Amino acid sequence: MKPQFEKPFTQQEPVSEETIARVGDILRSGRLHRYNTMPGEASEAALLEKEYAAYQGAEYCLACSSGGYALSVALRAAGLKPGDQVLANAYTLAPVPGAIHNAGGVPVFIEIDEDWHIDLNDLRSKAEATQARFLMLSHMRGHIADMGAIVALCEEFDITLVEDCAHTMGAHWNGVKSGNFGRVAAFSAQTYKHINSGEGGLLTTNDAQIAARAIIMSGSYMLYGSHGAAPDESVFASVKLTTPNYSGRMDNVRAALLRDQLPGLDENVRRWKLRYQALETVMINAPNVDVSERSQNEDYVGSSFQFRPCLQPSMIPDLVANCGARGVDIKWFGAAEPQAFTSRYDSWRYLGEPDALPQTLEVLSRTCDIRVPLTFEESDCRFVAEIIVSEVDALVETSL
Ligand SMILES: *Cc1c(COP(=O)(O)O)cnc(C)c1O
Repeated sequence: MKPQFEKPFTQQEPVSEETIARVGDILRSGRLHRYNTMPGEASEAALLEKEYAAYQGAEYCLACSSGGYALSVALRAAGLKPGDQVLANAYTLAPVPGAIHNAGGVPVFIEIDEDWHIDLNDLRSKAEATQARFLMLSHMRGHIADMGAIVALCEEFDITLVEDCAHTMGAHWNGVKSGNFGRVAAFSAQTYKHINSGEGGLLTTNDAQIAARAIIMSGSYMLYGSHGAAPDESVFASVKLTTPNYSGRMDNVRAALLRDQLPGLDENVRRWKLRYQALETVMINAPNVDVSERSQNEDYVGSSFQFRPCLQPSMIPDLVANCGARGVDIKWFGAAEPQAFTSRYDSWRYLGEPDALPQTLEVLSRTCDIRVPLTFEESDCRFVAEIIVSEVDALVETSL
């Protein structure tokens, strides 16, 4: 029998005993709601906001219920009106078009390039053609596009940039933290992202009006004064009665989980990179697997790995099955019908007839992806890569 890989691709690291003890204290206190505090007490959610704003280097932070919620509130707080068009990557995860739709926006999908970035030429032509006022940019799978060019384009067309940093928490472009390029950024704390509270979201911005509106929208019951990284009282005066409550708060248990993980985030980014590089070293030397070289400007988080097998797309389901039989879970983005996840613009049929985006479909028809959990050692990653390479080679053999 061929060597098998035994570890699950969906296993995250455990929550530490100290964190479990802290959560126990919160549970015993009964004060789980972020506004349920003793006199003078700052809630865990408020402390998380303060600490995440400091980590991110942003003025304001809102902790909320999910990354998708943060995206949708970001758009509304930045002034999106029902029917407004929002430029967005054609390759992203379902919460992104869902957040645009939820906020009343209409997504206009942009092609991706060979390396999964938003395509700058298509972005320019659609910015021109639609005069859209918003760009929701997903740094999909941690691949950061040329941010200098994107920021310049947004300035040229007076577009508000919202960054979806679900895959780039802790990443940098040219030394600047991902999330600090646009007007507002959203992060996810869902289990498979970079800090884990099961579910959770963070919104950051340097814009006081956006921050105030986002806080009121998240359901602050006029208790905005107890937030950890909020603008001055005076900013709320103009928004508090004209901004709806779309409840989506973070609770103290989740906030405590995240507060305990935040100090270890940069170390985990380093650990992810080692695992990514272990996969890359094996795959980059394989004649039948194509791996993109990462830009020198990019300091990425290697929590997933993408590659293109040199196979006809019609053979990739066999590759997925053969690797699966050896314990290696590969996602393929080329399937006509999505399985377990949707990341392709033509899967979101509630948006109506999809546009034709042939370049995106062509790139995705060759794109494979694996998760890289921190429960894998570097040796596990080399083993996983060897299994993939050998299964690709075997299929190449049979197709000759
Ligand atoms: C996970 C994810 C989000 C947000 O997801 P939630 O599950 O709502 O926290 C947004 N964009 C991308 C690309 C994601 O992968």
